[in-house]
Amino acid sequence: MPIILFDIDGTLVRTGGAGKSAMESALVSAFGVTEIRDVVKYSGRTDVAITRDLLEAHGVSPTLANQHRLRDEYLARLPGSLEARGGEVCPGVPELLAAIGGKPDVVLGLLTGNVRAGARHKLGYFQLWEHFTCGGFGDDHYDRDDVARAALACVREHVGKDVDPTDVWVIGDTPLDVSCARAIGANAVAVATGWHPVEELAGCQPDLIFDDLSDHTRLLAVWG
Ligand SMILES: [Mg+2]
Repeated sequence: MPIILFDIDGTLVRTGGAGKSAMESALVSAFGVTEIRDVVKYSGRTDVAITRDLLEAHGVSPTLANQHRLRDEYLARLPGSLEARGGEVCPGVPELLAAIGGKPDVVLGLLTGNVRAGARHKLGYFQLWEHFTCGGFGDDHYDRDDVARAALACVREHVGKDVDPTDVWVIGDTPLDVSCARAIGANAVAVATGWHPVEELAGCQPDLIFDDLSDHTRLLAVWG
């Protein structure tokens, strides 16, 4: 049974920076930050790690209460930010999901650094949320490898039995997506529709690598 876990940003959709914009706007409104310092990396990282680092970088104590306040302000702004930025579904994604979705022998899940509510806003905006039955999210875990472990646990609960990690395929656009796949013994598919070029992703030695997901034939072949 193939179990396919998708990253969101740069893999399923490109939001045109809606998430970063909502996060920075939240930092300004909730904590009175007057100047955003562009020193925190977002790519492939979890929201809880990003909020902690943003607070620290702007001189705000990264207590759990402050992290939650920033997260809640971010979530309040995200729908408007998605509308404002427009964004797009990545090439080939609707066709791929149509080809593999709804089959009793395929599990479609998410493995994302987004908090669950943010993932739902982003994928709901593009009418993709309903495709996924389980997942790991960036609500509690600072390290993406721990999100991968949570996603695997969710899959096991969903199917009601143990899962062989070699049946699991993690699809993502960053080196951290590849390394979190390795952390759970899963296969890694890298796709260069985010910020990282094919050459950089190739250096992480994924099992499969694509410019985008429009060529389904190789994926469908390996998933049987
Ligand atoms: Mg991504």
